[in-house]
Amino acid sequence: MNKPSPNIMGSRPQIKQLDDAAANRIAAGEVVERPSSAVKELVENALDADAKRVDVAYADGGKTLIRVVDDGLGIAHDQLQLALSRHATSKIDGSDLLNIHTFGFRGEALPSLGAVGRLTITSRIEGADSAAEISVNGGQVLPVKPAARGVGTTVELNDLFHATPARLKFLRTDRAESQAITDVVKRLAMSEPYVGFTLRDISGGGQGRVTFRADAQSGDLFDAVLGRLRSILASEFAENSVRLDFEREGLSLHGYASLPTYSRGAAIGQYLFVNGRPVKDRLLLGAVRGAYFDFLSRDRHPVVALFIECDPTLVDVNVHPAKAEVRFRDPAAARTLIVSGLRHALTGAGHRASTTVADATLGAFRPETPVYQMDQQSRPAAFTPVQSGFAEVQTDYSGRVEEAPVEVDAPLGAARAQVHENYIIAQTKDGMVIVDQHAAHERLVYEKLKAQMAVNGVASQALLLPEVVELSENERLALIEALPTLTKFGLVIEEFGGNAVCVRETPAILGEVNAINLVRDICDELSDQDNTQTVQDQIEAILSRVACHGSIRSGRRMQAEEMNALLRKMEATPHSGQCNHGRPTYVELKLADIERLFGRT
Ligand code: ADP
Ligand code: MG
Repeated sequence: MNKPSPNIMGSRPQIKQLDDAAANRIAAGEVVERPSSAVKELVENALDADAKRVDVAYADGGKTLIRVVDDGLGIAHDQLQLALSRHATSKIDGSDLLNIHTFGFRGEALPSLGAVGRLTITSRIEGADSAAEISVNGGQVLPVKPAARGVGTTVELNDLFHATPARLKFLRTDRAESQAITDVVKRLAMSEPYVGFTLRDISGGGQGRVTFRADAQSGDLFDAVLGRLRSILASEFAENSVRLDFEREGLSLHGYASLPTYSRGAAIGQYLFVNGRPVKDRLLLGAVRGAYFDFLSRDRHPVVALFIECDPTLVDVNVHPAKAEVRFRDPAAARTLIVSGLRHALTGAGHRASTTVADATLGAFRPETPVYQMDQQSRPAAFTPVQSGFAEVQTDYSGRVEEAPVEVDAPLGAARAQVHENYIIAQTKDGMVIVDQHAAHERLVYEKLKAQMAVNGVASQALLLPEVVELSENERLALIEALPTLTKFGLVIEEFGGNAVCVRETPAILGEVNAINLVRDICDELSDQDNTQTVQDQIEAILSRVACHGSIRSGRRMQAEEMNALLRKMEATPHSGQCNHGRPTYVELKLADIERLFGRT
């Protein structure tokens, strides 16, 4: 350990009062970790001052320059100096730290920034003859002098960390720092949709390049938030998300969440706000994961913008210097709010799959050159299999189509054919639907298992000949521990000596099933589970594995009645637009899209 000895050179160490500059530099270490944290503090100050417009400019990833211009209330001349002193704030009087309605309240940002960079504040309030300016350089405050600008405030921060070169070394590339600045501005822009924002990279000098712009929104809050999300997230997000408007135990949740079929490879599209404050809170992010657990494989992540509102006294925002984390008085209630709110909204979405699925499908179909110009050799690869595929179309009821009950009015239409013994082609009122029968059936079995579980456990059926499965010791131990739960899933398993187990009963809904594979799969699931998952999540993960085994295999022929029954069940079953791994169970092509494919429109 490199700890300094309390007794250096044999003499007792002296306790000394640090001067303001040192105290501010230490505070800055917590508040200002990197350029984006400075941007966050300055933009939050502008928003706290009721700005309607906030313009942010930066150079070299924010390392050499950050400038935030607002049209807010401004700071009076005689208060400028105070604004730069530590623990000086206009936002609270200190009597009630739990009743906070502003972004800032600690009075630390400006003195901290002044301690680690060259800071200039120019500000003018309504009714003042002119603006005034104050500068601070490495903690040295210069006298206030007159300046020119309209009502509002400009804060310019040059050469961040020049006074603390050690910190400079920890900064990442300009690109990475710019990325972090953009992320901070976008998050704040989401929380304040009625405020207009611009972000400019002026590294090259001059006006620079606008890297982000969000015009002030109007209308009711939902419209305003959605409008703002459109300018921040990919434009398809709006069509591929469900709206949340949920309340529980005094907490409310609103916002938008993506359909499971619209997911990302990393948790980068997750925006959470508590009483308007952007947070990156582990508890809340974990709850989002839990809510989608059922619909997405582990490596996929939903895109969400969730706004939690509650009485400010129910949440402590003063647990993190940069206020990125919060502490709820009742963390379980916050988790339940998110999980139930999201599930409720996703259930409402029924069998809806995302439009990006159809778009991607069309993209794959669409020949790159017009069809009529192509000869056999120049056909794009994607086109060829489609052609040969249709040559092998198998219908199980040729000659009866005319007689089949017409169900084209139903959302998933009437089954017309089965191709490659795995895809159902159905005709809808204004298009066609292609269903992956295996994926769809897996989802139906899963939802049914869950419903049975919720009532009185899954019905089981005895195997004529019990199956013996040889396991590793760890697998056996994990399985034995889970036996009471597995029995509720309709799986009756006994120890068989050594590391072998014997399967006596399997879930009836699965029909004839390969019990050995089923048990091995459950062992895999048990070994994958980590103890941070809730019991509910663990149960659902196992059910999802079980469901996989009872699903109609790809490669099974289906009769028309059976196919139509599947379509009707999908319509009636929640979440049937995606399989348990978040892949779509069907794609829909509108007639208009098909006509476009053939160049008819
Ligand atoms: P805090 O935001 O926690 O109060 P700061 O150090 O960030 O602490 O700011 C100190 C004070 O300076 C604020 O309380 C506010 O009165 C004033 N201030 C800072 N920035 C602005 C701004 N852009 N417009 C108006 N007033 C501001
Ligand atoms: Mg502040």
